[in-house]
Amino acid sequence: MLYRRFGKTNLNLSVFSLGTMRCLESAEVVQKTIATAIELGINHLETAKAYGKSEEYLGLALQSLALPRNQFYLTTKLPPTPKQAQIQEWLDQSLTRLKLDYLDCLAIHGINTWEHLDWVQSEGCLLAIQEAISQGKVRYLGFSTHGSLELILAAIKTNLFDFVNLHYYYFWQRNQAAIALAHQQDMGVFIISPADKGGKLYTPSETLQNLCRPFSPLELNYRFLLSDRRITTLSVGAAKPEELITPLQIADRDEPLNEQEQTVFRRLEAHFNQNLTDTRCSQCYQCLPCPEQINIPEVLRLRNLAVAYDMTDYGQYRYRMFENAGHWFPGKKGNRCTSCGDCLPRCPENLDIPTLLQDTHQRLNGSPRRRLWEE
Ligand code: SF4
Ligand code: SF4
Repeated sequence: MLYRRFGKTNLNLSVFSLGTMRCLESAEVVQKTIATAIELGINHLETAKAYGKSEEYLGLALQSLALPRNQFYLTTKLPPTPKQAQIQEWLDQSLTRLKLDYLDCLAIHGINTWEHLDWVQSEGCLLAIQEAISQGKVRYLGFSTHGSLELILAAIKTNLFDFVNLHYYYFWQRNQAAIALAHQQDMGVFIISPADKGGKLYTPSETLQNLCRPFSPLELNYRFLLSDRRITTLSVGAAKPEELITPLQIADRDEPLNEQEQTVFRRLEAHFNQNLTDTRCSQCYQCLPCPEQINIPEVLRLRNLAVAYDMTDYGQYRYRMFENAGHWFPGKKGNRCTSCGDCLPRCPENLDIPTLLQDTHQRLNGSPRRRLWEE
């Protein structure tokens, strides 16, 4: 296992972190998963108030394992709120469930809208967090986000945060500028769910597997991220010990991409361009805003992946979250397009956006799916 400095926190985190969103089966399984993670060199555990029984199981597991407190780092996350007393209450409840005196890192869970950012900057929220830090209950403050790039950049620029948890993968590089700015400001960078949200890479299509040979798609995505020194740590959302084995096989490989890996990335890109030809969305985001609130670039990204790499399963998983996951996955589905034409002159690729949106809807729509932790 390799370790990297988590930005200005100066914590030395393992390059893989155990994300416990799926650690919900039982306290016993969670204990085994944590014990295996620690044995394999993981020293950072990540949870959230909103992850069902995750904090509680984590607390029981840590107590049973009797790990010395200086041998692991723990992050939990609390929802954004402007209310000082609410943050104080939630924080104390989390500490109680986790059976800890202090958190190494507290993240605001999902600065996904401008209102969330306003709340966090409000006097009440800030006072509560500053007080918790002065009382020694919290060491460092960060935020997680599923928000727009503009919002993430603005949140980073507030200088309120020591680290950021965000999405960034080979198959979705929109947050590149946020990674750069966070690095420039010496913030720790935690990548959310590279295996699952990064492309459902545990179950890749045959097309994708063939294109990535001799590597696996999952391995390539991890290498893409680990070779980037601005990134500190990648979450691995194992629900049981066995699920740690494959990801951690490359936990000591953070050298720059080698020639063979670069060749495979070039092959992926060439295949992408050849297959999409004049329907390729370049992800420039210039088509927005859409009066029907369709998240055009994200809809067409999912189409890009389904058409080019047969990533239909992943596309369906993400597409079905539109209109179903609130601010965690904003925007309407492609079939809401009224063909008003507003977006057309803004598209530098001259795409027939209404037709492509309908095509995507037909390929990827199905029964809706809710996020694991949504109430
Ligand atoms: S044509 Fe469709 S996608 Fe484009 S702006 Fe109008 S409603 Fe939105
Ligand atoms: S403007 Fe065109 S190429 Fe750019 S994101 Fe929108 S649809 Fe894609």
